[in-house]
Amino acid sequence: MQCLNPCLFLDRDGTINIEKNFIKDPEDVELIPGAALAIRDANELGLKVIVVSNQSGIARGILTEDNVKKVNKRLIELLSDEGALVDDIYYCPHEAVSENGCSCRKPNSGMFERARTEHGIDFRCSIMVGDRMSDIEAGKRIGAKTVLVLTGYGADLQNSWDKKPKDIDIVVPTLYDSMKYIREVVNKWKQIRKDER
Ligand SMILES: [Zn+2]
Repeated sequence: MQCLNPCLFLDRDGTINIEKNFIKDPEDVELIPGAALAIRDANELGLKVIVVSNQSGIARGILTEDNVKKVNKRLIELLSDEGALVDDIYYCPHEAVSENGCSCRKPNSGMFERARTEHGIDFRCSIMVGDRMSDIEAGKRIGAKTVLVLTGYGADLQNSWDKKPKDIDIVVPTLYDSMKYIREVVNKWKQIRKDER
């Protein structure tokens, strides 16, 4: 197996920055402790880092597309202040609808497909980290490793089940804590590459 562009897909609210129920003002963006460090580690590991975010507030008239872009810009600034680089941010502006929904809202894979086209991502060498079941399901749909963080809605989710759903590969307190697992997975991919030479 060749891993040309291994990728760390990250949910935004509740995973990188503190969940605040539709962040409209860039001033309200607050990083979760350790998030920048984790992304910096991922950069050093040679992973592409791509943010995939459901922003239904746009369709619901709570936010504008401009609000989301400014919030994303602020997020990138805060991260880069700490030396952490994000390759791209995708968001789905559509509403959660059961029928005739869009193809980009997670757990659908539209944003991931776009990242694959635009960044040459290899889904077989990808990891998805998020705080909601829609993140995990999206990750599994593309065949990625999946990590649930207990920040954001993660803790509530964990409290709602008796046994960890099998789609979740690992549960960790924060994005920072996911790096141990991610490092192991990436090293395994690198090893496989070496063995194939
Ligand atoms: Zn969408």
